[in-house]
Amino acid sequence: MRRSLVIGNWKMNGSLDSTSEILRAIETTIDDKITCDIGVCVPFVYITAAQEITKPTVITIGAQTVSEYQPGAYTGEVSAHMLEDVGCSWVLIGHSERRTLFNEANAQLVKKVLAAQMTGVTPVYCVGETQEEYKSGATFDVIKDQVEALLNNSAVDLTQLVLAYEPVWAIGTGLTASPEEAQKVHAFIRALVSERDINAANMLRILYGGSVKPDNALSLFGQKDIDGGLIGGASLDAKAFVSICQKA
Ligand code: PGA
Repeated sequence: MRRSLVIGNWKMNGSLDSTSEILRAIETTIDDKITCDIGVCVPFVYITAAQEITKPTVITIGAQTVSEYQPGAYTGEVSAHMLEDVGCSWVLIGHSERRTLFNEANAQLVKKVLAAQMTGVTPVYCVGETQEEYKSGATFDVIKDQVEALLNNSAVDLTQLVLAYEPVWAIGTGLTASPEEAQKVHAFIRALVSERDINAANMLRILYGGSVKPDNALSLFGQKDIDGGLIGGASLDAKAFVSICQKA
């Protein structure tokens, strides 16, 4: 019922040359075995180049953050309209690196989701608990807080949205939540959403992220409420990324 989705998050990596090399390598390796939607979120400055390379293919392009403001005097910011203008399909919002390193909190992130939804760019709202929160058994409270910030705003359109669960302790560390552990959180998120809109909850794609690799993708994606992945490190390696897409 829900089509799987795999999104690569390149973070602040690469160059103009590597952008084209990786995307061309992905493009030449994808085949009929892939049935999922594929997105790649590149640094702002490479969006146009990425878009030109992938336009004739099934690969879609996204950004890694967006301004919560409408166009105007906000030096250094990039608006959702601009992302739409250069052909972005996706924008990551609330990635743990944005939450921790740039102090982006729920209230601001909800505004970013709304800004994206005013355009045709689909927000991918990321949630996840830190290692301390995980160890102290606070996972479900933290997730509830982050998801409810979104659900409590009636202007948020649950049908133009993707959620991503990324335990912070699993990002870039080689550690992953077990498929069963991740499934429990995904089911919990879907249940929260269904309290507001059961149909939207059933259609909502919830991605798992945090050290997803070709060898653990299948068991994660096999879980009932895991609808694909948000892939960091492995998305910079075309072969690994395509192999992950084949398992979604
Ligand atoms: P990782 O990153 O796959 O390198 O753990 C995931 C992410 O940060 O989205």
